[in-house]
This record gives sequence, structure tokens and C-alpha cells, in this order.
Amino acid sequence: MLLIKDIRVDPGREQDLAGIASEALDIARSDVKEVKLIRRAVDARHRSGVKYVITLAVSTADDSTVLGTHRGGNVSEYSPTAPPVLPSVRRAPEPAPVVVGAGPAGLFAALTLCRSGAPCILLERGKRVEDRARDVDAMRNGGILSLQSNIQFGEGGAGTFSDGKLHTGIKSPYLFSILRELAENGAPEEILWNSEPHIGTDMLRTTCAGLRKKLLGLGCDIRFGHTLKDISVGGGAVRSLLVCGPETEYELPCRSLIMAPGQSAREVYEMLLNLGVRMHKKPFSVGVRIEHSQRQLDRERYGRSVRMGLPHSSYKVAVHLPGGRSVYSFCVCPGGEVIAAGNEPGGVVTNGMSPYARDGDNINGALLVSVDPWDLPEHPLSGLDFRRSIEEAAYAEGGGGYMAPVQLVGDFLLGRPSTGMGSIKPTYRPGVRPGSVDAVLPAFAAQALREALPLLAKKLSIFACEEAVMTAAETRSSSPVQLERDTDLTCTYAGLRVCGEGSGWAGGIMSSAADGIKCAVSAIKEFTDCD
Ligand SMILES: Cc1cc2nc3c(=O)[nH]c(=O)nc-3n(C[C@H](O)[C@H](O)[C@H](O)COP(=O)(O)OP(=O)(O)OC[C@H]3O[C@@H](n4cnc5c(N)ncnc54)[C@H](O)[C@@H]3O)c2cc1C
Repeated sequence: MLLIKDIRVDPGREQDLAGIASEALDIARSDVKEVKLIRRAVDARHRSGVKYVITLAVSTADDSTVLGTHRGGNVSEYSPTAPPVLPSVRRAPEPAPVVVGAGPAGLFAALTLCRSGAPCILLERGKRVEDRARDVDAMRNGGILSLQSNIQFGEGGAGTFSDGKLHTGIKSPYLFSILRELAENGAPEEILWNSEPHIGTDMLRTTCAGLRKKLLGLGCDIRFGHTLKDISVGGGAVRSLLVCGPETEYELPCRSLIMAPGQSAREVYEMLLNLGVRMHKKPFSVGVRIEHSQRQLDRERYGRSVRMGLPHSSYKVAVHLPGGRSVYSFCVCPGGEVIAAGNEPGGVVTNGMSPYARDGDNINGALLVSVDPWDLPEHPLSGLDFRRSIEEAAYAEGGGGYMAPVQLVGDFLLGRPSTGMGSIKPTYRPGVRPGSVDAVLPAFAAQALREALPLLAKKLSIFACEEAVMTAAETRSSSPVQLERDTDLTCTYAGLRVCGEGSGWAGGIMSSAADGIKCAVSAIKEFTDCD
């Protein structure tokens, strides 16, 4: 098979893969025997019009002759990278390894363990996704917070009610295997070739249920509604766990523990700190969600091509301010809604989610200001206190009941509270109250946003829109804590591994899942040594 890279085609032609291949290789269409889409991206940078940029794997009637004709250009032999070979154990370890948390890190750690011949126990404090969805709706429709089942806690983890964006900046040998696993279990096939893959919250729920079925089939003992409360250690190693189940607390013998509790399980980090697990503050960010008109952005991005059936456009912007702070967009959700993403009583946290179709009127994204470790007191968990104080201020400014405070960009720039909304309707539920972002964010963060908005408007004109809506507060884009890991990825105690976003070593669905696999592989090597 041959690989043809970066073929530029007009929108409307992207489905005709055989035609594109025959044209690119200058051969008859009948000589194209098989075509596989490897990658597709949208290039909207040029005034001449929007193009798809496509990479194909093609089998022709005579590959070597075709390759000879095109050698040196964008055609080469196709040699796909083989997925990494995962280690396996001869005997299932006793007691069974335990994974805490059924988010991306925990799910992929559990899958890796089970496939290696070391079936594990998976503890998840929240509910399975079908039941969890009802609790999330109770918050969206009535402002009712369930402490163990919400946007942060439950099957699938924090990203289940999200846009399910799957791009990542990290390099890991596991990334393609993760995408394939997701696609095999309910995610759209296109995540395998789309340069900006996303699943959408509707399809993510099906995918979580698919992964659960897969895990059960591999012998995983999944326990929903079971919360890890404490860890007993002895001789520098993990000995057992205290677990709170739906009916009673129990002790679980454990020698190998992979924790993937996410960044919102505050009491877990307090427990680990009390145990003497080494950790330190790390940089993170706080800010607001900002909503713009999706149509306006599509027009700005695509110009005359806007009606060509292109995917809804997105953006990524950043500015570095003279004082040293960065202000940047994050987790942008085209055609999505702003959601109530808190898990603590009396705190308002925003985030974004979109369905697969991304067909809502607004595009929303986090607009964040960097927070450095030296901005905060010495204590390793001071970042958790800092963001909690912002979330409580947002709750107060929203007027209670998990309503969120909103402010128009125009009012924010003039330093006056908003009293009503304009053409862009805020999507946050259970509801919003016009008010002031300054009442929520610390002065340095509000000031940085005020300086950044005019600069961002020079890069992307939607940021000049005075009727854009800012909803506060966005505080959970990454963990403010990082656990110290040894070369075998253990944290302070033998057998204790902490992975995923909450460990401070990953952020986002893909990198958390990859980190979960990495920790599981390291644990499996330990079992293999004991074989
Ligand atoms: C609304 C929203 C939208 C997002 N959108 C995207 C996106 O589009 N793309 C992207 O890449 N990232 C997105 N993210 C971030 C992404 O979801 C996280 O980076 C990712 O889920 C982290 O994975 P994790 O497995 O480390 O932790 P989590 O997903 O947070 O999972 C941790 C799990 O551990 C469980 N748990 C916690 N404590 C305990 C305990 N003591 N006992 C038992 N179980 C416990 C929790 O209930 C939870 O299910 C979004 C996040 C949110 C909140």
C-alpha cells in the first residue's frame, strides 16, 4: 500500500476518496484497488478559500511502478506503526490489584491490567453512566447537587458530559490504541482519522457503557458507589484499603493500587498528604467561560465557503501579557452549552459540553489566566483552597441555587456590572444572574482578562463582540497539585501509583487515559518480576 500525504481538496469533494487518490497519483480510477482515509483536516488559513487536507493509504494495481513515478513527492510506502506490545502475567496476582476511579485514566488502567491477565477491582464512588445522567439533569434543571454523582463523579469521569475532544499535545505510544478502543466501543469511527477528533456527550455515554461491558467480559470486578476512604501502609508499602460501599465500610487487602481519582476529589489528596505522600503545588489557571455566536465564528473562519457543509469551526487563542501572565482559550466547545460542573456544596464551577452534532447556537470556551505556584501560600494544597474560594464567590454572585453570574464583555471592559443580556443567550443551566466577574475572580485575574480581551480581538474578531457572555467561574481546567513519582511511577509507597489528571501528570481525556495505561504497565512489570 502507498501513503499519499496532504492532498488538498475543495469542500464537497472529500467523500470521493478513490477519485482523489486516482487524481493525486495520476492513474485511472479503475487502478485504485483500495483506499483508506488516514487523516483529514480543515485548512481555513488562506483567503483563496477553505480546503480539506487529506492523507490516504492506497492500494493500486501496481504499487511499485506508481511509487517509482512519485518518489520524492508526497507519496511513500505505507507502513503503519504497530501498537505497543503490552506485558502479560502468568498468574493472576493475589490479592487482585485495585484501581480507584472510572474516568479515562482508571478505565484504561483497568483494561490494561485485565488484558494482561491481572483482573482488577475497579472502585468508583459515582454511579453507572445511565443513572448518573439523571443526577446531572437534576442539577441542570433544578439546581440539585448530588455529592457522589455529578459532572465530576461517576462512570466515565469528568469528561463524560463534555465535548469529548480527543486531541492532545502529548506524545505517547498508546494514543492510537486508545482511539481504537473508543471507536470499537461506541465512539464515531471518524475519531481514527479526524485531525480534531471529538465524540460529543451523547456518544460518550454509549462509549462508557461499551467500555464497561468490555471490562466485565475481561473479568473486572467493577464496584459503583464504592468510595476509597483510606489506605493502610506498613513497611513502606500499601497493605489494605478502607472502602465505603453503599451499605457498609469494609477493608480490602491490597498490594497494588492505581489511583485515578481526578482533580476534584479534594479529600483524597488530603488523605494522601496525611499519609506522607510527597506532592507539591503546580501551575494552573482560573477564569471564565465565554460564549460567542457560532455563526459569526463560522463566517469569520470560512468566509464564502461557510455553506459547504464544513464542520463547525473552533478557535485557539493566547496572549502573553507584559506582567508575565498568560491568558488563553481552553476546551472550546463549538455548538455547545456551558454546564454546571461543581461537586462541592455552595460552589459554582463552569465547563463546556457539546453533542456530537455540535449544533447549538453558541460556541463556548474557557478563557483562562495562568496562576503560578508563588501566587499562593506554601501549603501543597493551597491551590485547592484558592479555587474553592473563587467557586464560593461565584455561587454568592449568582444568587444561590447554583445559578451562575454572567457579565457582558462590554460591561466587563467598562468595569460595570451587567443588568441584562444582549443578542447572545447564555446557555448555563439551572440559570444565570447578570452581575460582575470582578466580584468572583481575584483582582489579578480580572485585570489580566481586561488587558487580554482587546488583544484577543485583534487576533479573532469575535473577541471584539461586546455582547459576548462571560460566565463565572472556570476553575477546574487542570490540577493545582502534582504528586511526586519515582521511576517506577510509585508515589512514596511501594505499590501506590497515582495517575491521570489529579496526579498532576496528565490533563484531558487522551493524556489521562495514556497515563493510566503507563501506570498499569509499570504495575504489571512488578507482578511479572514476582512470577
Ligand atoms: C465538563 C467537562 C468537560 C471536559 N471536556 C473535555 C474535552 O472535551 N476533552 C478533554 O480532553 N478533556 C475534557 N475535560 C477534562 C477531562 O474530562 C479530564 O481531563 C479527564 O476526565 C481526567 O481523567 P481522569 O481519569 O484522570 O479523572 P476523572 O475523569 O476526573 O475521573 C476520576 C474518577 O474517580 C472517581 N473517584 C474520585 N475519588 C474517588 C474515591 N475516593 N473512590 C472511588 N472513586 C473516586 C470519580 O468519581 C471519577 O469518576 C472536561 C472536563 C469536564 C469536567
